[in-house]
Amino acid sequence: MANMNPKKNEMPAQEPHVRNQNFKEVALGYTAEMAIDEAKRCLQCKHKPCVSGCPVHVKIPEFIQLIANGDFEGAYQKISETNGLPAVCGRVCPQESQCELKCVRGIKHEPVGIGRLERFAADYHNSLPEAKIERPVTNGHKVAIVGSGPAGLTCASDLAKMGYEVTVFEALHLAGGVLVYGIPEFRLPKSIVQREIDKLEALGVKMQLNVVVGRSISIDDLIGDGFEAVFVGSGAGLPKFMNIPGENLNGVFSANEFLTRVNLMKSYQNDSATPIVHSKRVAVVGGGNVAMDAARCAKRLGAEKVYIVYRRSEEELPARIEEVHHAKEEDIIFRTLTNPVEILADENRFVAGMKVQKMGLGEPDASGRRRPIPIPGSEFFLPVDTVIMSIGTSPNPLIKMTTEGLKTENWGGIIINEDSGQTSRPEVFAGGDAVTGAATVILAMGAGKTAAEGIHKFISEKAAK
Ligand code: FAD
Ligand code: SF4
Ligand code: SF4
Repeated sequence: MANMNPKKNEMPAQEPHVRNQNFKEVALGYTAEMAIDEAKRCLQCKHKPCVSGCPVHVKIPEFIQLIANGDFEGAYQKISETNGLPAVCGRVCPQESQCELKCVRGIKHEPVGIGRLERFAADYHNSLPEAKIERPVTNGHKVAIVGSGPAGLTCASDLAKMGYEVTVFEALHLAGGVLVYGIPEFRLPKSIVQREIDKLEALGVKMQLNVVVGRSISIDDLIGDGFEAVFVGSGAGLPKFMNIPGENLNGVFSANEFLTRVNLMKSYQNDSATPIVHSKRVAVVGGGNVAMDAARCAKRLGAEKVYIVYRRSEEELPARIEEVHHAKEEDIIFRTLTNPVEILADENRFVAGMKVQKMGLGEPDASGRRRPIPIPGSEFFLPVDTVIMSIGTSPNPLIKMTTEGLKTENWGGIIINEDSGQTSRPEVFAGGDAVTGAATVILAMGAGKTAAEGIHKFISEKAAK
């Protein structure tokens, strides 16, 4: 019989004032009993509205039924039919605006905890000894992947399973893209990402790290070297700044640099070769997931006060509700309807504070959100010694600048055929944030899948001629 509890089973988590002092995972995962109980909240709807909310169409009622029956490995296998990274998606997908938004249990009460159940099934599978991965028989065709984020990894995995000889070229010294350099350990343990990369290598995918395509080697060089197609999944890692006075002072970071130092270079560990500022008072400018991650990292590094400075109201915060909730529990201070005007310097050109002003809200703008309007004479001083800018990112222009005939939007996104991922250069495909601008893990994975199909069709048709 269905469990008609109006609320999701709560996720066990570290206590807020313990976890804001460490980098260990915040959410601890369901026990088997909690998972079975939550799975029984699913009504097994015949028309499956939840599936239409998932960009990769995970077979949601089917995997939840398997959990309810106690067949956890079966549930994992069911999810894996369409989703190659369930342990990642169960943790970081914005479920509240995707699968769970469409869940009928959510009409009157809380939706089924689909993400939490997906994470449970994936963690159960990962706790078992890994089955030996059979390397597919090669079909003799070579494909290059630029970037090892979720788009590149998904494209590489799908192509390798079809028999392609795949090489991933990654600019950084570790594979995983934002999953390793951006999203902090306390939301997504890096061992989970490494496990997926190990599986790819077991499938025969080669990883060439520390290679910046467009600098170390060009896309045309790769094609000249016998790669029949190239997938560009280079993300959107170029930070935006506000262009206000003082942004070049010591103590001003882009969120990407700050998070890379913390997550990729592990600067919070005493033996790390990469330093990080241990600030007392930090202002993070912006209101998205990236801003929440930066603020929560700054707190864990020992800052006494960490402010989120956001120009709209709390209602418009683009970050996931769960992340805002976690940040507040961890004593992050929200200064909404507030916008920086100038960053002030001390005699050594270090940050000495920030002049900010209060904002009101006008009519909705092109983004559909109400336009922030400065309130004259409302300026005040915010005493901070570090400022982290987290107001968005765009694709790095390097690949466009070095690839003849590759068409992009004015803001830098690579233009593709959405059905195949093919760009204006027939042998070049693209997907993920490099095409859409900063988006989500699951959308990047979906784009990697579409491009793998597109590349397979392109190479098969060429070979048949
Ligand atoms: P990326 O993950 O950016 O990977 C691109 C890779 O390409 C990088 O490894 C980069 O080093 C490499 N690269 C770039 N240029 C070159 C080059 N010229 N040569 C070789 N390699 C190159 N999404 C969610 O769904 N949920 C979340 O909770 C969430 N939180 C986030 C938190 C942070 C801090 C950030 C920054 C993003 C977050 N996102 C979240 C967004 C999500 O991570 C991205 O949408 C997703 O990672 C995009 O995947 P991608 O493969 O397109 O690019
Ligand atoms: Fe929901 Fe993401 Fe899983 Fe799809 S992949 S079912 S959107 S958690
Ligand atoms: Fe279960 Fe909700 Fe999907 Fe219905 S909509 S099948 S209740 S998860």
